[in-house]
Formats: sequence, structure tokens, C-alpha cells
Amino acid sequence: MSTTRFAPSPTGYLHLGHAYAALFAARQGGGRFLLRLEDIDTVRCREEFAEAILEDLGWLGLRWDGEVRRQSTHFGEYRAVLDELRERRLIYPCFCTRAEITASVAAPHGPEDAIYQGAIYQGAIYPGTCRGLDPGLAAARIAAGEAHAWRLDMGRALAAIGRELSYEEWNVGRVRCDPAGFGDVVLARKDVPASYHLCVTHDDALQGVDLVTRGEDLRAATAVHRVLQELMGWKAPRYGFHRLILGADGRRLAKRDASQNLRQLRAAGMTAAEVLRLVQV
Ligand code: GLU
Repeated sequence: MSTTRFAPSPTGYLHLGHAYAALFAARQGGGRFLLRLEDIDTVRCREEFAEAILEDLGWLGLRWDGEVRRQSTHFGEYRAVLDELRERRLIYPCFCTRAEITASVAAPHGPEDAIYQGAIYQGAIYPGTCRGLDPGLAAARIAAGEAHAWRLDMGRALAAIGRELSYEEWNVGRVRCDPAGFGDVVLARKDVPASYHLCVTHDDALQGVDLVTRGEDLRAATAVHRVLQELMGWKAPRYGFHRLILGADGRRLAKRDASQNLRQLRAAGMTAAEVLRLVQV
């Protein structure tokens, strides 16, 4: 018996890929199944989409346990984690713009599938430009209102942990990870006082999720998540990665392709049972 969750971002309507991910999570656990809205990006996330998620999952016949957690109402909790990491000198402010970072990296490299949610900018590992900034100067820039992100000092973090990290992959076994390859990832964005990596690991730990299921496009991010779990003393869940549902063109479905969204399919006369058959887990 496990606790699993489905954690979409309400930036669009759910499509067949989401239905598959939700069903996968709901079926694998055999225990508790939670629903969480990852809506920290208050510009891209919309209430209309949040409501549609609940409605579409209901239409599919999926039921979740307990209250829906909405990350946008928990910024104080994420701030507390950042405060602790700042006190331990494991994060630092970064004033660089995206263009500066891209320009400063000659040959972008990094784990192939790791270009995700601020882990890496356009394939470029952050070169650490702001890591060595004088703390007094950095504080003055912050006090003057200069936009800044907060980055994990990966080198210090790994030194603090002092041992190799791995995770338990469901149906696979122990998998070693190489978080150093990600460089200094963003834990609080310039525009949002938190980040995907921070919120997802914090919430999974807080909510007792012990089997994290997600698309295989997110497999690489597990290395970063293991670092945060070790630093914060959060219990590591097991991980299960599922395939991505592809469209007729062989590409993964995106929220912007209206054709496969559940509302559209429903309007075209498809029943929930037919959708569930299409995305058999
Ligand atoms: N919120 C993430 C997304 O919509 C997925 C959550 C997770 O990492 O499992 O892509």
C-alpha cells in the first residue's frame, strides 16, 4: 500500500497524457491517492484551469483522498525552507538574466533530458557567476530592489551530504544519481519565491507520498530532488516513471494542442470509459 499523487499545473486543460498520468498514479498505489495543484506560477496558472482539472478528473471517475493541496496557498512553508538553507549558506542570490547565462556558456551541455523547469537554462548549466559575490554587496543589491533568484550551491550541498546519492526505482531497483551535473539549480525564481524542485520535494515529504509517479521526461530531475531530501532530512519516496502519451504526429502531447484535451474529446462525444480505454495503464 502506497500513497501516490497526481500533481498537475493548472496552465491549461488536461489532455490524454494527463489522464494517463492520473490513472497511473491512482492505480499503482493501491492505497491513498492525492491531488495537488502545482500552481506557484501565478501568471501562467488560471483558476479556470484549476476548476477544469477537478471537473475533468471527476468526469473520468477518479476520486482523490482528502483536500486538494494548492501550492499557491503555501508560500510561507517554502519560504521557511529557503530561510533554513540560507542560514546554512547552501543557497545564494543570483542576479543574472537568462540572456547573460546563455551567453556565458560556450558549449551548453548537461543531462539530455534535464532541461526542465529551471534546472538548466536552454541546455546551459549555470556557470556560477553569482556564487562568489560579496555577501554585503549582494545584500545591498537585494535591498535596492534588484530582481534575483536563489540558487542551490550544489558543490557545498554535496559536500555537506558527503556521500553518493541514489534512489529506489519501482520495478527496477537502486539507481545511482549524479546531481553535480545539474549545477546550481534555482530554488526560488526571480518571479516566484519558490520553484518546482523545492515545492515538489517539500510537498511529497509533507504529504507522506511514498511512491512518486511521473513521466519519464522528469526522471533526470530525481537527482536534484534527492539532494534536497538529504539536506532537509525528508524521507525519500520510491519513484516510478511512466511513458509519455504521444500524439498522431509522434510528438508528446502539449497543453497547447487543443485536439487531445479531455474537454474537446468529451464535446466530440467520447465517453469517460472510452478515454480510460485509450490510456490503459
Ligand atoms: N507539476 C508537474 C507538471 O505538471 C509534475 C509534478 C511532478 O513532478 O511529479 O509537470
